[in-house]
Amino acid sequence: MTVVRDVPKQLYIGGRWQDAESGRTLSIDNPATGEELCRVADASPADGRRAVEAAVAAQAAWAATPPRVRSEILRRAYDIIIARTEDLALLMTLEMGKPLTEARAEVAYGAEFLRWFSEEAVRIDGGMMTAPDGRNRLLVTRRPVGPCLLITPWNFPLAMGTRKIGPAIAAGCTIVLKPAPQTPLSSLALAAILKEAGLPDGVLNVVTTTDAAGVVEPLLRGGQIRKLSFTGSTRVGRILLAQCADTVVRTSMELGGNAPLIVFDDADLDTAVEGTMVAKMRNMGESCCAANRIYVHTSLAEEFATRLASRMAALKVGPGTEAGVHVGPLIDNAGRSKAHDLVRDAIKRGAKVLTGGELPDGPGCFYPPTVLTDVPAESAIIDTEIFGPVAALVTFDTEDEAIDAANDTEFGLAAYLFTQNLDRALRVGERLESGMIGLNTGLVSNPAAPFGGVKQSGLGREGGRVGIDEFLEYKYIAVPTG
Ligand code: ADP
Repeated sequence: MTVVRDVPKQLYIGGRWQDAESGRTLSIDNPATGEELCRVADASPADGRRAVEAAVAAQAAWAATPPRVRSEILRRAYDIIIARTEDLALLMTLEMGKPLTEARAEVAYGAEFLRWFSEEAVRIDGGMMTAPDGRNRLLVTRRPVGPCLLITPWNFPLAMGTRKIGPAIAAGCTIVLKPAPQTPLSSLALAAILKEAGLPDGVLNVVTTTDAAGVVEPLLRGGQIRKLSFTGSTRVGRILLAQCADTVVRTSMELGGNAPLIVFDDADLDTAVEGTMVAKMRNMGESCCAANRIYVHTSLAEEFATRLASRMAALKVGPGTEAGVHVGPLIDNAGRSKAHDLVRDAIKRGAKVLTGGELPDGPGCFYPPTVLTDVPAESAIIDTEIFGPVAALVTFDTEDEAIDAANDTEFGLAAYLFTQNLDRALRVGERLESGMIGLNTGLVSNPAAPFGGVKQSGLGREGGRVGIDEFLEYKYIAVPTG
């Protein structure tokens, strides 16, 4: 495949592509076949330190670079990405598995963060006021927080990078990016595009490694990284927060989710089924916003389940590169086993299978779209992020019952509700403990919106007007009034 051949496979440090000092490489596998696509450099802690040193060395000049220059680099990178949509989409499908149509959508979504933040780079403002006692003028400015470590997951290989890199570049921060070891090719391609767009050497450094814990911890404890932006599991997020505490590194954390989706008796059924398909099946369910628990009012439960099951059963499963495929493979065998174990546990406790639920034979990490009804509350699937194409349906009778069940989780990222009653929508929306709500829609991600969660789903927001704030700090200067 030329797209795989053409992407850089080395570490990107100080504007130079280079092998890991040890010469070690890691294997990138195609989840649709289980075969190796290529190998990329496998960094050691020493490589990580060199990347941070490059970011630190570039920081002062980058912070002093005019906002318009930073903005135009982002805008050029956006244009290049859009022009190369087909190649980037194919690369993503090969390393991650999602169908090409979804990969193309991610290229557009991911690129949009660069365009959005190119527009925000030139709007970083401050203020000036007179202190209440009249003795001082207070000049408030905003400064880049400093060198940042960005850690991204494998499920959105391009967009998780641009969602962090866009605001960091716009704010004037330098970066060490550590992508997930399963899907680094999109990040390496992105680094090459940003270089082509004129990003100065050292502003972005990319370190690929199988030793995330060994490489990252000394960087967070080393005192040079001033900011960590992490997207991944709550388990790893907790570990990193503890490491950041010792050197008081600022953090943005996008962690796990366990999104409830509630279908009220006054919902439009077509809208609810369509919205559930999107909330459940986007990215094969491998999304932290994916609907994880689907609560349906008893009066519509049967009709809703039948319609959802027939839509799910009609989806074509196969390699993401094949035309007409809706559902690609899951990321790896561990991901597939996790989804299947959750299904088996629910069945053992009394859930019924309307479609799917069987592990297919043959190569690749495929799992069939699955609908379970009557899922008992104590099933593991109710409080575990499934990360797969499995819809777990539960019935409810009263609004309070639905809200209590929805909020009965340590997570609070996304929630979805379907109702045509505006009073109810606002009332329930206000009581749901989540950072984002889809009202009569299954899609909440948008570069212009503040993405993020409450409770143990994270800290901070990405995207929107506030996304750049995560990479800026306030500085004020007191000037005596003359
Ligand atoms: P997932 O289960 O989706 O793979 P993880 O939280 O394990 O989520 O991984 C998300 C990102 O965090 C990946 O880039 C991974 O390499 C990285 N990671 C995993 N463990 C650690 C760790 N102990 N320290 C730093 N980064 C880690």
